[in-house]
Amino acid sequence: MGTGILRPSERRLMGGEALNGSRYERSRAHHHRARRSLAGGVATAFRAPQLPWPIAFARGAGSHLTDIDGNTYIDYTLGFGPMLLGHAPAAVMRAVRAQLDFGIGYGASHRAEAELAEAICRTVPCAERAIFSNSGSEAVAAALRIARAATGRTKVVKFHGHFHGWLDPLSIGVPGSELPDDPASAGQDPMASASIEVLPWNDVAALRAAHLDEVAAVIMEPVAVNGGCVLPEPGYLEEVRAATAAAGALLIFDEVITGYRLGLGGAQGHFGVVPDLAVLGKALGAGFPISAVVGRADVMEEVATWRVRHAGTTNANPIAAAAAIASIHELERRADEIYPHIAALGDELAGMLREEMTAAGLPLVVNQLGAMGYAFWSDAPISDLASARRTDTEAYRRFAAALLDGGVHVISRGLLYVSTEHSDGDLLETRAAIARAAESLRAAMASQGAAVP
Ligand code: PMP
Repeated sequence: MGTGILRPSERRLMGGEALNGSRYERSRAHHHRARRSLAGGVATAFRAPQLPWPIAFARGAGSHLTDIDGNTYIDYTLGFGPMLLGHAPAAVMRAVRAQLDFGIGYGASHRAEAELAEAICRTVPCAERAIFSNSGSEAVAAALRIARAATGRTKVVKFHGHFHGWLDPLSIGVPGSELPDDPASAGQDPMASASIEVLPWNDVAALRAAHLDEVAAVIMEPVAVNGGCVLPEPGYLEEVRAATAAAGALLIFDEVITGYRLGLGGAQGHFGVVPDLAVLGKALGAGFPISAVVGRADVMEEVATWRVRHAGTTNANPIAAAAAIASIHELERRADEIYPHIAALGDELAGMLREEMTAAGLPLVVNQLGAMGYAFWSDAPISDLASARRTDTEAYRRFAAALLDGGVHVISRGLLYVSTEHSDGDLLETRAAIARAAESLRAAMASQGAAVP
């Protein structure tokens, strides 16, 4: 399977070797307390691998987080992606506070839901209609249902190493899995994935050999961010677009990460390839739980006529909708400034990681596009799942822990995000923290008798 997630018992053992455990005493106590009631002590498995143990936070503002021990960090985790505008962005906070005075949910129509749909249709190229859910996983499920209803077909193609949420059907061939049909988790229903075919990414021949005329939809991360921020090869997206159109299969871009991050129009705007449907989440809600399926009006007609049942008690609730509208307005208003800024920040962060680690003689590869990236402990380039699987994830976790000691918070498995709020000063501090982390890792390796360059 190889999801890269350690069992808590394994992780606690690793925590015993923490570089600077005393700095995180309250987090440790919190984690011990949490484990007695919250299964595993974390609310999502992806938070479990952090060393020395999962850190508990008390406050987020702009580019910074403060933990319950009072340590402050420059944050490149961004809530696992949503905080593109930084933590607690003023425009979003204002909109949410204003809405709170008018109620939290009505179980009925309200102005914000249509206003949000309009904002999305204005900004995302394929969006002629929208529906809303609460999480990316849910919206992916809705997109598949719509595609199957619209085509009258059942089969769905996904790509090896792409991640589309935690629900059963698409939880095979996820990042880190050795074989395309490896399930991500114990307890999955194998039948739920019986109609899913997993193809290699960036492989035109495999695509041509697939019987797309029997396929309802081809779903992909248009940049394989979860599998290592592996870009589509030039012409590949165009190839998939043409092949699906010719075969009457729908093309679904899962833009949960790339949406509003690679530009107002997401990956489809960036690459100029327009899918039939797209899934949005993360940055859409600036941290509030909201996701969307958007796409061609004729396809979305399946929902409009109620043939496809789409439900959800808190769908497009006024709080999350207000946050999303404020977020899109902010991104639209400042698009000319924001997108070049975060792309430059992403370039700079990736560049300094490469430079400082090379200077220290430590192997780090960074794949990055704009405000998102993925770093690997590796001395060979990462261009596909096979090369990503050969990297040293354990060493990267230790690097992440060393950065934490130096006041920089990153995702332990390698994903990197920058926000509009990161400043040149943050990057200067980050460069110094990277250099210190590299030095402490070299020292640790030397004391363990490892060959250090
Ligand atoms: N699709 C992609 C590309 C994602 O990265 C994620 C989450 N990381 C999801 C879907 C699932 O979203 P959620 O966690 O909101 O269910």
